[in-house]
Amino acid sequence: MRCTKCRGQEACLEVRRHNAAFCEACFLEFFRDQVARAIERHKMFRRDEPVLVAVSGGKDSLALWDVLLDLGYDATGFYIGLGIPGYSEPSREKCEAFAAQRGARLIVTDLESEYGLGIAATAQRTMRTPCSACGLSKRYLFNKVAQEHGFRVVATGHNLDDEAATLFGNVLRWQTGYLGRQAPVLAEEDGFIRKVKPLYRLAEREMAAYCVLRGIDYIVDECPMSKGAKSLLFKDVLNQLEAVSPGTKQSFLFGFLEKAQPLFEEHEEVELRPCGQCGQPTTAELCAFCRLRAEVAQPKRRRGRGGKAARAPRDGTPEPATAASALPLVSPES
Ligand SMILES: [Zn+2]
Ligand SMILES: [Zn+2]
Repeated sequence: MRCTKCRGQEACLEVRRHNAAFCEACFLEFFRDQVARAIERHKMFRRDEPVLVAVSGGKDSLALWDVLLDLGYDATGFYIGLGIPGYSEPSREKCEAFAAQRGARLIVTDLESEYGLGIAATAQRTMRTPCSACGLSKRYLFNKVAQEHGFRVVATGHNLDDEAATLFGNVLRWQTGYLGRQAPVLAEEDGFIRKVKPLYRLAEREMAAYCVLRGIDYIVDECPMSKGAKSLLFKDVLNQLEAVSPGTKQSFLFGFLEKAQPLFEEHEEVELRPCGQCGQPTTAELCAFCRLRAEVAQPKRRRGRGGKAARAPRDGTPEPATAASALPLVSPES
């Protein structure tokens, strides 16, 4: 098959949702175009604005860091050590190797040694799933560390597949608060910095292809703690639909963003104040992160599921129904 763009070279990758097949050079151009389009269309950040890129050592976040540097942005990496045995160590090494190779700056924080919150241990001591403790900690640290280093925007490597799976999970349970906050950009507000997802137009397999073509060495294994997470099931279901009907994921997500997301946006004023412990914005006396730290420091005790339908966190990426995999498929209320 020939490349549908240049019509000269042999195609190396088919992108069925675009009815296209690309040669190496044209694929890289397509990839950059999609990222540039996302940044411009949603006014994610300006040319001269330093961006903090959350990196995990996986293909998505390293591809994001690479493409931003390649497009000429001032992109600094930010890695959080999650304290997951056998996984955190090699993933940090991938980030450090990438930073060294590209001459880019990398900021490293460690949940275990700096906050006493290694994810494996935290999940064991609390009733939370690892994904929920991890999501909470990441959202907190993205905001805090970005502010400490003078960044006004954090970029994450969520791709089309991630976003479609999160949307699917939230629609299945009609998590309206989360739906209102699922967007490629969350504007800066009340002590929360701007959060952006420049890869939301690109699929997961395109990330792998990009990394291979660009010679990016990433950690291939999925996080061992995410085994059995609902997000993986949702991805699987969407992949089955996509195989039969290419473009399903994209039209599901893009259609939502265009036609439905604004309907779920909540404009209710919430009173925020600085956390009594750390100073980060919160609605309570202590922020969720400091409460988690306190809980982990406490002697073990059972904890209830804690009440009402979850509100979308103000601090960025909705904690997807997909990550909170403690939730059973059939809701206990029904
Ligand atoms: Zn071509
Ligand atoms: Zn706090």
